[in-house]
Amino acid sequence: MIQDDYIKFTIGKQKHIALIAHDSKKPQLVEWVDANKKILSQHFLCGTGTTARLIADKTGLPVKGYNSGPLGGDQQIGARIVEGGVDFVVFFWDPLESQPHDPDVKALLRIAVVYDIPIANNQATADFLLTSSYMNSNYEREVLNYNKTIHSRLESFKTE
Ligand code: PGA
Repeated sequence: MIQDDYIKFTIGKQKHIALIAHDSKKPQLVEWVDANKKILSQHFLCGTGTTARLIADKTGLPVKGYNSGPLGGDQQIGARIVEGGVDFVVFFWDPLESQPHDPDVKALLRIAVVYDIPIANNQATADFLLTSSYMNSNYEREVLNYNKTIHSRLESFKTE
């Protein structure tokens, strides 16, 4: 394992999906989830506080709510990605408005890429993802093997 450059993790048939939308995008995400309720009901859903609540109220689907985004909800979802508890993200962020928690948003987008997580940032991508054949099968995502990096870094710090 330590010699491999990447480690594979399985995204199972049943995905752990995080749903997040900035304020101007909330109506669009709520409608999108409602329109795709049948498919999404087969997966585990979670989201940032306000988004999760709005979706649960509109659709009746169970959506585990984390803190609101500006209060650290994006960071909580990022942490769940690191721990393996979230493996799919739909995040309708607002490209026309700066957010008080812009650094957290950037951190979440970054960590999703690091962990090779499918992440839809607009409705078209979300539609493509949801109609992918991978929605009904396992998918092996590949994460950089940091054990290897740590190992070689430790070696480089050793003095003679
Ligand atoms: P909210 O957080 O769902 O609590 O509004 C989303 C965000 O702004 O990142």
